[in-house]
Amino acid sequence: MSEIRYDLLHDEYALIAPERLHRPDCYRTPAPEEETKKRCPFCEGNESMTPPEIFAIRDNEPNKPGWKTRVVPNLYKAVQIEAAWESREVGIYQAWEGLGAHEVVIDTPRHLTRMDAWTEEEYFDWLHTLRSRINDLKNDFRLVYFSLFKNHGHYAAATQEHPHTQLIALPVVPKRKLDQFHRAHRYFLERRHSIFESVLSQELHDGERVVLESDHFVVISPFASTFAFEVAVIARESAESLIALNDGKLRDLSNVLKRTIDALYVELGDFDFNITFNTPPVQKNIVTEPFFDTLPQMWRFSLRIVPRIFRLGGFELGSGVHINPVAPEDAADLLRSVVEGKR
Ligand SMILES: [Zn+2]
Repeated sequence: MSEIRYDLLHDEYALIAPERLHRPDCYRTPAPEEETKKRCPFCEGNESMTPPEIFAIRDNEPNKPGWKTRVVPNLYKAVQIEAAWESREVGIYQAWEGLGAHEVVIDTPRHLTRMDAWTEEEYFDWLHTLRSRINDLKNDFRLVYFSLFKNHGHYAAATQEHPHTQLIALPVVPKRKLDQFHRAHRYFLERRHSIFESVLSQELHDGERVVLESDHFVVISPFASTFAFEVAVIARESAESLIALNDGKLRDLSNVLKRTIDALYVELGDFDFNITFNTPPVQKNIVTEPFFDTLPQMWRFSLRIVPRIFRLGGFELGSGVHINPVAPEDAADLLRSVVEGKR
């Protein structure tokens, strides 16, 4: 059983999850492609190798081939839905049973190791699945904060090469995220508009960090990018999260993501990366109450794609400040020229 522990010195939480140690690492044991697919628990035809599915886009019966996306519980989960929400005290410290949900979204039945091989339809099915899972899990009032992320490649901490996304739903809001929501709330109260609106109008005015624009989204290389070639996708209109996006906007986002990720592949080759969705809390409780009702106005759907080209060192770990050797303006310029077909 995992445990959520409160870090008294840093005002942060840590998940202590020994089960995670037993994960098989497919990157450590490279094998011929056919052999890999036979052993891959996420490939079509190998449904019996995963726990029974929670959700799938399919027209036939569950746990059989014939699906477009599948969602299963993570076998090596960091938190579990069966845990009681009870705390224990260890002297000056506090810990809780590891309550939460840890799901794996199998993005596509195809064992694709590069995301530029995805079709726009695959992007749409993937986003539709993520949206469905949040909509379902938010009915459990114990789950307050959702971390939605994708690890792609060894340097991005992935242990399965088959495209997949993870969803970890927690009963607490991580401190760093909470600070972000409070700051966005203060900004909104002072100026009566969202901090994201300010960022977008500055970026659209400057233009040099804009990678591409669509009807509903803008893709930028953030002004203070912490990673080389990092990009952010931000919704133009008020929509605080994925669940506030209708199918039309999801189609637009599918197109935007495909063009952005294709451009990153052209620029960086076969690269490792993380995608993180900037999701707001889904429950109003004593912690989120000060800003919860304002979220639709103050927050915006956004996500980050973070290439993991350089590894983190002691300076980054110790100071929280990253050294990024590529100016965001140069990264945006290169990506924009690919998107616009100039290269
Ligand atoms: Zn596979």
